[in-house]
Parts: sequence; structure tokens; C-alpha cells
Amino acid sequence: MRPARALIDLQALRHNYQLARETTGAKALAVIKADAYGHGAVRCAQALEAEADGFAVACIEEALELREAGIRAPVLLLEGFFEASELPLIVEHDFWCVVHSLWQLDAIEQTPVAQPLNIWLKLDSGMHRVGLHPADYQAAYQRLLASGKVAKIVLMSHFARADELDCARSEEQVAVFEAARKGLSAQISLRNSPAVLGWPNISSDWVRPGILLYGATPFDQPQALAGRLKPVMTLESKVICVRELPAGEPIGYGGGFVTDRAMRIGVVAMGYADGYPRHAPTGTPVYIDGQPSRLLGRVSMDMLCVDLTDVPQAGLGSQVELWGKNVLASEVATHAGTIPYQIFCNLRRVPRLYSEA
Ligand SMILES: *Cc1c(COP(=O)(O)O)cnc(C)c1O
Repeated sequence: MRPARALIDLQALRHNYQLARETTGAKALAVIKADAYGHGAVRCAQALEAEADGFAVACIEEALELREAGIRAPVLLLEGFFEASELPLIVEHDFWCVVHSLWQLDAIEQTPVAQPLNIWLKLDSGMHRVGLHPADYQAAYQRLLASGKVAKIVLMSHFARADELDCARSEEQVAVFEAARKGLSAQISLRNSPAVLGWPNISSDWVRPGILLYGATPFDQPQALAGRLKPVMTLESKVICVRELPAGEPIGYGGGFVTDRAMRIGVVAMGYADGYPRHAPTGTPVYIDGQPSRLLGRVSMDMLCVDLTDVPQAGLGSQVELWGKNVLASEVATHAGTIPYQIFCNLRRVPRLYSEA
């Protein structure tokens, strides 16, 4: 069988979750939207369920997948409902629900619900994506209370630039949030991964770590706490063909890389159809039988080429780590002009193998 696979280390996942909780002293919703950033939402939820305070997903489809797999823990819908017709299912499965827009508030007022809802009322504190306008926030809170359909309200907002450690914007957003919630006594939730790791002075009863759970840093520079994360996914495959080429020979589509000396090239069963980024250029790091090496030429759909010239012990059948504990997904992302979030979410076709150790 094709040797490409993604190994998922569930012990590392738990380590990273605990790091988020211990460093903040807060309750933590493990964000497992988008199939746990490509890691498999059900398996990740099962691995975390004994210790997690709850989970967060993007939509009810993702939440139902968890319930169908037997996950009983709280599950927050980060964008709430997209249509009022979801409300009965939200009640039936006891999902927690973000309200980010006035139309959602109208829908709650107009729809009979069998049980009171658990609402996370989202403020737009400056990101200008979703969230209520500060001027509407207090009134929205009062309308929720007055609806008689709400058991609990958590006040939340989301940061646009918490990954920029020298940027004042997160603190400005906190100031907007504090002003908007003045006088309301409810729990709050502000911090995503970069804020958990990089903004210790921002308080948050509930934190919402996503990317850090998977062991990747949200920062583009070294950061102490991020250095304690353990990578969860190892994407690996094998060398399926070796070529010895003289200087001056082009490799792969477009001939974009030309051998500059006599070289040994390894062809690896991994391509952009597996989610390896097509934009990763020559020089992107790989690990071959425990030795550092590099990508050569253009990534194709099912294969890519690596440099074996200085890894003489490597050959046919050698193990290649595309990312994992030796080559960080964030490094691959930087080379490819993207972020580890997208690197993980793009994973497809390769089987995922889970381990507890
Ligand atoms: C995705 C998401 C998170 C998690 O973000 P990370 O940067 O991966 O930690 C937290 N909160 C909200 C509202 C989100 O949409």
C-alpha cells in the first residue's frame, strides 16, 4: 500500500490542552472545528473528553458528528445557528450557542424552545468580522434575559491580532470589551491560542485554544510557552524511487530546479493531493531517516522530490518526515507562504493512525 500517512499523537494533544489550562488557570474549550484542524474531530474529542471542559466547533454539522460518536461533553457552536430551524436540534443536543448578530437574537425571541439555551454573546470589539456592535451589546444582553429562554450567558469576543506580540490592538479590543460589558455580571471568554500563550495579563474565565492543541505555534517568531508545545501530527511517507543525475538536469514539472552538481534524488509518495502545499519551494525542510534534507523542484499531485545527495545512507524505502517533531509544520508553512492552520486543514487522502504513547 502507499506509504503516506499521518500519525496522530493523542498524548501530545492532551499535553497541549493541559498546558493551555495550567498557564491560564481558566476553563478551556478545545477548539476542534474543521475536523480538529485535520486531526480528526471524533478521535481528538474522545482523547480529551475525560479532562476537557468542553469543545468548540464551527457549526451544528460538526457538533452532531460529535454527539453521534457518543461525546456528551458541552459543545459550543462558534457561529451559532445559520438558520432558526436549527434551534430545536440545539436544544435537543444541549449545544452551547454563540449569538453574534441581531437576527439571531430576533430568531431566539420568535422561536419556542423546549429548554433554556446556553448563549455566548459575542461582541465585535474591533476585528469587524462577526459580533454585536458595542452600542447594541447591553440591550442584546437584556433582551436575552427578558426572553426567558436562556439559562446562562457568557460574554465573548475574539482577537484579530493576538499573534503579533508587540501590537497594542488586543489591549484596545479588551478596553472596548470592558466598556461594553460594564455592569454585567457574567463569565467572559476572550483568549484564543495566541492570547493564551502570549497575553498572560488578559483575563478570561473561558479560553478557546485551537492551533496550540495541535502543537503548532501561532507566532512567526520564537516564544517561550509555544516552545513547550508538542507537535501532534507527523506526516510521513517513503522514498519510492531513487535517481542519480549529473549536473544540469531539470527535475519535475516546469524544470524549475536544475541539478547544480551530480546529485541523488529521492522521489517520495506525497503530493498536493495529500495536502502537502504545492507552493512549498525548493529548500523546504524534510527529514529522511532521521537526517535533515530538503525538497527539490515542484510538488506534484502524488509525488515530490527530495535531495539524497548528502544523505548517503538513505535510499529506496527510506522514511521521510514532511512535518512532525523534527520539521515543524509552522516551518513548512513559512516556506510555503501560509500558516500551520491551513497546512493542517488541507490534509486529505492519507490515512490517519492514532497512538496514545
Ligand atoms: C477558531 C477559533 C478559535 C481558535 O483559534 P486558534 O487561533 O486556533 O486558537 C477561538 N475562537 C473562535 C471564535 C474561533 O473561531
